[in-house]
Amino acid sequence: MADVLAFGAHPDDLEIGCGGTLALLAAQGREVVMVDFTRGEMGTRGTVEERRVEATDAARVLGAASRLNLELPDGFLPFRDPATGIASREIAVARVVELIRAHRPRLLLANYPSDAHPDHVIVGEVVKQARYLAGLKKWHGTNDRHRPDLLLQYFEHEQHPPTCVVDVSRTFEQKQAAIRCHKSQLHDPARAEPQTALSRPDFLERRAARDRFFGAQVGVDFAEPFFTQAPPKITDPMSLLA
Ligand SMILES: [Zn+2]
Repeated sequence: MADVLAFGAHPDDLEIGCGGTLALLAAQGREVVMVDFTRGEMGTRGTVEERRVEATDAARVLGAASRLNLELPDGFLPFRDPATGIASREIAVARVVELIRAHRPRLLLANYPSDAHPDHVIVGEVVKQARYLAGLKKWHGTNDRHRPDLLLQYFEHEQHPPTCVVDVSRTFEQKQAAIRCHKSQLHDPARAEPQTALSRPDFLERRAARDRFFGAQVGVDFAEPFFTQAPPKITDPMSLLA
């Protein structure tokens, strides 16, 4: 069982996209389970083993209860299982439905399904689809049906207009520390691998600028933006003054 299931395509997506929110949920006593779809083996920098260790360290920094990896092929859109001929995407939907039914969370987080990286798009679509299917009584699977109440979609390369922001001022340093766990991906003059957007010396600063921008809009230091299918419901308009 978990209060929150959070999905990312690669071992650093959750930290970069919504690390402050995950740390906040964990600090509030919620059981947070992080799930990576792939081991990031297509990444320009770092090995699978390095990335596994980095992801484990980052989950600890954020206070997550556990972190799972579905070990689907990185860059997985075109792939089919050679034994069964089933597309990776169909396998992913079935796996996510089973995870939702097994953990029975009320809240899901996943990539926003429009992004420069095709894996981010697929994870966004798969989780949205699986959330719905997990609630269908007649959809196959071993556990009882369960549909989480809310899906929060986070942004990575592309920034889209959010429907809400989460004040992460309290946990922003934890988020930065979790991203810094991904040493193989970040700036390191000692590594000879090709440079990427993440390995720029100012990567953390650039990401912080985004959270500063959204924080400034709501009068706090840092906020993470999200898209929800429906606008968040306000029961007491005065609560917006808090
Ligand atoms: Zn990614």
